[in-house]
Amino acid sequence: MPESAKSGERILRGIPVSPGVARGRLLVLAHNTIGSVPKQELVDDEIPHQLKRLEQALLDTRREINDVQRLVNQGLGGEHASIFEAHMMVLDDPTLMDEVTRLITQQRLPAEYAFQQVAEKFVRTLSAIKDDYLRERVSDMRDVTGRVLNRLLGRGEDLSLRQLKEPCIVIGHDLSPMQTAQMDRKMVLGFATDIGGKTSHTAIMARSMRIPAVVGLRNASESMSSGQYALLDGYNGLIIVNPTDQTLFEYGQLIKKRVTLEERLRDVIDQPAVTLDGVQVTLSANIEQSSDAEAVRACGAEGVGLFRTEYLFVQRDTLPTEAEQYAEYHSVAAALQPHPVIIRTLDLGGDKFMSHLDVPTEMNPFLGWRAIRFCLQERDIFRCQLRAILRASTVGNVKIMYPMISGVEELVQANALLDECKEQLRKEGIAFDQNLVVGVMIEIPSAAVAADALASRAGFFSIGTNDLIQYTLAVDRLNERIAHLYEPTHPAIVRLIKMAADAARRRGIWTGVCGEMAGDPVLVPLLMGLGVTEFSTAPGIVPQVKYLIRRVKMHEAVELAEFALGCESPAEILNRCKELARRVAPGLFENS
Ligand code: PEP
Ligand code: MG
Repeated sequence: MPESAKSGERILRGIPVSPGVARGRLLVLAHNTIGSVPKQELVDDEIPHQLKRLEQALLDTRREINDVQRLVNQGLGGEHASIFEAHMMVLDDPTLMDEVTRLITQQRLPAEYAFQQVAEKFVRTLSAIKDDYLRERVSDMRDVTGRVLNRLLGRGEDLSLRQLKEPCIVIGHDLSPMQTAQMDRKMVLGFATDIGGKTSHTAIMARSMRIPAVVGLRNASESMSSGQYALLDGYNGLIIVNPTDQTLFEYGQLIKKRVTLEERLRDVIDQPAVTLDGVQVTLSANIEQSSDAEAVRACGAEGVGLFRTEYLFVQRDTLPTEAEQYAEYHSVAAALQPHPVIIRTLDLGGDKFMSHLDVPTEMNPFLGWRAIRFCLQERDIFRCQLRAILRASTVGNVKIMYPMISGVEELVQANALLDECKEQLRKEGIAFDQNLVVGVMIEIPSAAVAADALASRAGFFSIGTNDLIQYTLAVDRLNERIAHLYEPTHPAIVRLIKMAADAARRRGIWTGVCGEMAGDPVLVPLLMGLGVTEFSTAPGIVPQVKYLIRRVKMHEAVELAEFALGCESPAEILNRCKELARRVAPGLFENS
């Protein structure tokens, strides 16, 4: 593959996170951090101009909100209209506008500076009020004032990725997992961002939606312009702007090879996930929404090993009700029965936030108010979800799993709430599965080290390697600058997985992996040798993992794990993993 700049073309290198090749025009999104607006003093005759700019920005923002409202009404129906009314009310608030006008005229400040000062003051005041209704208005206020500021700063429309008119490759400084979830798969051929790592939720979402993607391009987005023709290589992590005919030809060949591989993989879809020497493993899929159930069936997975329920909470301005959640969980369970569906309770926080929940900004969100910690404090939200899952469990194949458990105390508290919900349902005469199995995610090092105590109280373990690696090695999973330090084959990780799997086996429960390690065919034999018996990965990757499992022998996996447990070097362990995988399944690695 082309690695260096050739005449006429420019090659930008990042981290490959979602396989595939996309070709098309670039759409470069504006960098949307507003930051602080410079303060300057105006001369008197500039004041009318500043007032006019403010007026125009307000008019444009009104028009923009009306446009979005119309689109949403067409797509989702009128009941979502209230959010836009709330936005309009912010724009029509005379106190806010009077104060901005006063700053412009009396203190002679530019419109953007005056507007930002007043908007921030209003947000601060509203945030401090202990009234749920008023606090909910904070996000409306932030959204609308952000739109007006973008106008004043000449940043154009707040482009929604759901409203693209032509297929394109999206380039942005950053894209949140929620923005990615909203992408129209037909319009977004691929995307690339300046920041991010392989296990960021944006990357995970790209794999799940099968959108080729590259992250960690540093500040490359600044050097690209909308309309340029480019090729995005999600296998090798490249963006090639203005590709030459030769490059396009080489990629044509690569795509042909991939098609051949896909055909080969299609043959294993209906086959069991069993090693050459007859050891059966469970191969499941990770999903983010109920409509993914179809992909789970199509890829040959045996059910769902991780349902990331937090995505049910996006694209809306209120929390999902118990009935709505029940409908989602029930539909997945019914579609995939008798295969298990493991529903993970809400893992909000880290890099996943809901615009309608006013969660305070934290210095270290991955170490902060996240997942089970959030749920054990926001008990109404948690109870609502637990009741919905319990009600869906009548299908018979539902299991629950708690994220970010650091020790026994949290598991006990979560189970106490679950028992409370069961009791309520019994009183209300509502059915649920009395034998519902409850598992724990092992993704904090303390949980792996103290796994014995958890294993005696849990129905299964599912190792979240994405977080386990970031917390054990102290490497932020989103940070491209330290992505080279994010090493799944670090001896510490190998040992922690072994500790957890051993503790589980001693207590007679199984251990799965639902982090991205489970979707890397190179690492699967190592995990098998360490005692992992269930693998859950994005549906698109399931056939590759199955292909590999069906070509390896269990004793080879055990020998690999024994080598890794005695080894000091992440690179040596990785090389051994590669050697084995390439030897037993060379066909999988022809393009890498
Ligand atoms: C993990 O941490 O490995 C995991 C599966 O959870 P998430 O990626 O959603 O944090
Ligand atoms: Mg996690």
